[in-house]
Amino acid sequence: MIRKTIFDQSSQWLLSSARLLAPIFLLGSVSVSAEPDIHHYTVSIDYAMSRLWVEARFGQAVNSVTARSHDAGKYLLDVRSCDDDQQIRMRNQRMMLPQHGISCMNYTVDFERAAQEHRYNEMLSPENIIVSPSYWLWRPELRTGTDIQIEFRLPENVQVSVPWQKLAGDGPVYRLSKSPESAFAPAVFGGFDYREIEVPGAMLRVTLLNGVQEMDNESILQWVLATATDVSLAYGRFPNPSPQVVVIPVGDGRINDRSAVPFGRVIRDGGETVELQVDQSQPLEALLSDWTATHEFSHLMLPYVERKHRWISEGFAQYYQNVLLTRSGAYDDLYAWQKIYDGFERGRASRPELSPNEATTGGMRAGLMKVYWSGAAIALMADVRLRERSAGAESLDDILDKFQACCLPSDRVWSGPELFAQFDELASAPVFMPLYRRFADTAGFPDTSELFERLGLSVSDGRVRIRLFAELRAIRKSILETNDAAASWREQLAAN
Ligand SMILES: [Zn+2]
Repeated sequence: MIRKTIFDQSSQWLLSSARLLAPIFLLGSVSVSAEPDIHHYTVSIDYAMSRLWVEARFGQAVNSVTARSHDAGKYLLDVRSCDDDQQIRMRNQRMMLPQHGISCMNYTVDFERAAQEHRYNEMLSPENIIVSPSYWLWRPELRTGTDIQIEFRLPENVQVSVPWQKLAGDGPVYRLSKSPESAFAPAVFGGFDYREIEVPGAMLRVTLLNGVQEMDNESILQWVLATATDVSLAYGRFPNPSPQVVVIPVGDGRINDRSAVPFGRVIRDGGETVELQVDQSQPLEALLSDWTATHEFSHLMLPYVERKHRWISEGFAQYYQNVLLTRSGAYDDLYAWQKIYDGFERGRASRPELSPNEATTGGMRAGLMKVYWSGAAIALMADVRLRERSAGAESLDDILDKFQACCLPSDRVWSGPELFAQFDELASAPVFMPLYRRFADTAGFPDTSELFERLGLSVSDGRVRIRLFAELRAIRKSILETNDAAASWREQLAAN
């Protein structure tokens, strides 16, 4: 589809949107330097959040800038080179910069209209809006060693929340570096409740948005704190030292979904964001017994894994959400093993003719439960193998601990085999790649029946029973061992 729009009254700029072309032509800056290249951006917004102005001063001249969204050009009102105050023409949603490059530009964005791209804004009170930088941040390609420093100049009533690294000092100044681009990161503007909360190893930057209905922000913060603390029970600290957490109150309007946390996701785009939708009409106790937040935070223990190996990231998060909710006392052992068993059974029943890799690439609907649980079965197998081989000295927690230390947060996308090979490097002997070779391209679902038997988990009529005596009883107990401090704190919270 080609759609043409006259871009300004002088009809100088003809804007046509060939959606397919935009991202392919990412040309870099004109020259490459070994020195880190920092571009300085200043972003201003008006009181009513209807216009956004950007001045971009480049570390060295650039001849190509793009925005992540193909639609970003629709919202540009004016673009000029500040070297000579010449207008910059647009073609196919791209800025046509001179071949010799420019060192500075400024542009205006119709922010009010760009905000309509985000359907969440309909659920929010008008004092705060979400507009992804993908719609307003035009920038050169970011390579390793090229960063953008972005300073916001905001009216008194307007705050900003972005996933980028916050620089020291009072003002809202951030550093944007190369990162995977899994989805469009949220940037929130306006009046909202911003809190920084500490969990072991991290300071979470929590943005609590204002919905149409009231929300008890103190309860919400307790829940974020508890579920993020769950994840620190894997190896003593939270995997990302400073993620953005965005809580979106969606109310109880969902007819078919009465869960306290109807939706969550991790976005990796300029930083790591955990986005959580909550039904703010539900009590803290309901939030605390919902697994969504623990699942999403668990994702941060792995880097962004290529879509075709998504069964690894989903599987590890499924495994850990059950393990961690038991360590923190939200689940008891039997309940957790039952959930794991039920998950494996759903995975087994899901498109048995497909392998995990095929189920993932065949579209999520093709074998959703296989995608979610085959990686969890492999995580359990790897965990038990590591513990058994080392007589309890090494576990999956230890491998992820070392992985965090060497490799997280990561600025790139990992393939499944690359990730498993790295895990094997960190382990005292290979465990992960042998499992990958055995199961990733094998139709069906990993057979866990013998493993369950050895762990002392008997199953009849779909009900799991824990046996007192079993070969791997000590391993079974150590995987889910309760952290007493976390458990008593969670208990107190739920009782209040
Ligand atoms: Zn997930």
